[in-house]
Amino acid sequence: MTDAPTPQDWTNAGFSTRAIHAGQEPDAATGAVVTPIFQVSTYKQDGVGGLRGGYEYSRSGNPTRTALEEALAAVEGGARGFAFSSGLAAEDTLLRAVLRPGDHVVVPNDAYGGTYRLVARVFGPWGIEHTPVDLTDLDAVAGAIEHGRTKVVWVETPTNPLLGVSDIAALAALARAAGALLVVDNTFATPYLQQPLALGADVVVHSTTKYIGGHSDVVGGALVVGDGAQLPVGLEGPTGTTLLTDAVAFHQNSSGAVAGPFDAWLTLRGLKTLAVRMGRHCSNALTVATFLRDHPAVDQVIYPGLEDHPGHATAARQMSGFGGMVSFRVGSKEKALDVCARTHVFTLAESLGGIESLIEHPAHMTHASVAGSALEVPDDLVRLSVGIEDVADLVADLGQALA
Ligand SMILES: *Cc1c(COP(=O)(O)O)cnc(C)c1O
Repeated sequence: MTDAPTPQDWTNAGFSTRAIHAGQEPDAATGAVVTPIFQVSTYKQDGVGGLRGGYEYSRSGNPTRTALEEALAAVEGGARGFAFSSGLAAEDTLLRAVLRPGDHVVVPNDAYGGTYRLVARVFGPWGIEHTPVDLTDLDAVAGAIEHGRTKVVWVETPTNPLLGVSDIAALAALARAAGALLVVDNTFATPYLQQPLALGADVVVHSTTKYIGGHSDVVGGALVVGDGAQLPVGLEGPTGTTLLTDAVAFHQNSSGAVAGPFDAWLTLRGLKTLAVRMGRHCSNALTVATFLRDHPAVDQVIYPGLEDHPGHATAARQMSGFGGMVSFRVGSKEKALDVCARTHVFTLAESLGGIESLIEHPAHMTHASVAGSALEVPDDLVRLSVGIEDVADLVADLGQALA
């Protein structure tokens, strides 16, 4: 018999072991194997200031949320995780923590539409400028960085919906040389397929609504801050330190967009099966992408796992699989709308990353908010979130919809 692992041991455990155990010791009072839903706002103090486990009020801390935050930090290899009520709440909190009026942000020219809207239309009026740039073009990124003024380089890889792949380590070096933070939105790849902090990123952002939650039943977001990550050069932290973890913790509590206990619990339950789900998402997506590539009604298939994808080599190097998202072009808006109307197994809906397959028309749905901007997407593009159903049924469904 070996000794039971102590909580610290999980750092060296495999991915799924961390996802299932980190931060999730059986409940001390009851032995409950699953972290309970602590549906509570406040905590009895044993005399003034006598907190049990540090809990006083659930905006500041809640045990179910703590379990999720510790598990997220463990699977991303970060110093500390923070769980929010949505991906955009996580992004908003991070940007408030690291930007001041007059600062500048480099954003991907095919960023998630909501991220772009937040940067351009919420932070813009507060004096934050931004430059959209093609992150696959390192010279263009270097040219867009304004030394002394650029405080954040925002990375998405693979991007949404065009699945562009950029080199995280190279972008981290560019950001670091400019004293800016490298932020990676790891929603599409997930920590199972890609580890941005190990590649030099300072902080990882998630919409846990997508693959981490994984069952289309909860909206949530997260930040995971890398070990030792600092605020952008020159910025003083609100608590007297320049550690990014301290600044994010202060802002999470001060702005209060935290994940509720039940949402945290659902997200944690999803996280436990992330590895097995991602394996199936990846293999189903490759089969679907190959089928579409060979289909006469399809002009172009965009999937990083196909060798003709311009980011294939980079993806193969920095990811351990190519993900579950596939986009394709059919030549006209009418044809794209027609395909979206005719599938039965693929459900017409926004969002992605759940066990069920979804189909959508980005120009009219997820990316309608960027119409007319540098981020506009082609109107003959169809995006698939390939689920974990039997792949023969997925292929047959697309076949009849394209016929
Ligand atoms: C959905 C999404 C977001 C926003 O997350 P919400 O949970 O919807 O607020 C951010 N980035 C990417 C890549 C996303 O897909």
